[in-house]
Amino acid sequence: MSHEPKQEPRRDFLKNAGGIGFLTLFAAAGVGLSPYLKSDTTKLLRPPAAVNEEDFLALCVKCGQCLQVCPYDSIRLADIATGHGIGTPYIEALDRGCYLCPLLPCVLACPSGALDHHVEDVKKVEMGIVAVRALDRCIAKTGGAVQKEHIDRLFAHAHTLSPEEQQSRNLGEGAKSNKRELEEAELIEAQKLEGKPCTLCADLCPLPNKEEAIRMVASKEGGMIPKILEACVGCGVCVEVCPTNVLEIQPRLSYADIY
Ligand code: SF4
Ligand code: SF4
Ligand code: SF4
Repeated sequence: MSHEPKQEPRRDFLKNAGGIGFLTLFAAAGVGLSPYLKSDTTKLLRPPAAVNEEDFLALCVKCGQCLQVCPYDSIRLADIATGHGIGTPYIEALDRGCYLCPLLPCVLACPSGALDHHVEDVKKVEMGIVAVRALDRCIAKTGGAVQKEHIDRLFAHAHTLSPEEQQSRNLGEGAKSNKRELEEAELIEAQKLEGKPCTLCADLCPLPNKEEAIRMVASKEGGMIPKILEACVGCGVCVEVCPTNVLEIQPRLSYADIY
């Protein structure tokens, strides 16, 4: 499975146009680029409780506080390859979803209101919704079991930061041990499924009411397939843990938009 971020239209545009210099020429000529750029950033999965994309881009001061406090290393900062909004935080669900920490530390750490402090309940973070993209790849559909390599890749995800990178984030001792405990709990849960029919996506959903967000249902082939339900908040964990890339995040959309 590829972990490469999806190729963005803007990246092609930059390549074809010769980069920033060309963009500057456009701007100098008074050509409006903002609608193009705005549509690009709406594809990014923002951290929980992000305000609407336009306000988010205006309010985020690119301080990285949300990234520093995230115990799962779920948050990245956008760069030139990601698109407009360089320096703003986003989540690449294929590599690391948001584990919906009960106190939403990223939201509490945000000093600007780009992440809305009024949202305190993980069930209301409204990051997006999951689409079941390629059911033919679901190993559970025909009763396939979780293999050791499927668990190993989750261990690799849980150690996304080198010790030097962790040091550079100024995480205190408490935060470090908290990170280890959280990762261990997640991995122990995943290991229990090794050799059993795959239910990784449904079992590792971090929502407290996960049975209202994702459920395994019978498939025509005699196995099971995931069904997404209304309570899904689009945290991306099921996308991350699925070993065969069946699921896809649709940022900022809701259940009603696609089901
Ligand atoms: S809720 Fe927790 S896991 Fe999710 S982005 Fe915020 S700090 Fe990270
Ligand atoms: S089904 Fe659960 S794990 Fe998947 S995106 Fe929705 S809330 Fe997150
Ligand atoms: S994680 Fe879910 S969608 Fe992916 S293969 Fe397993 S059961 Fe199918």
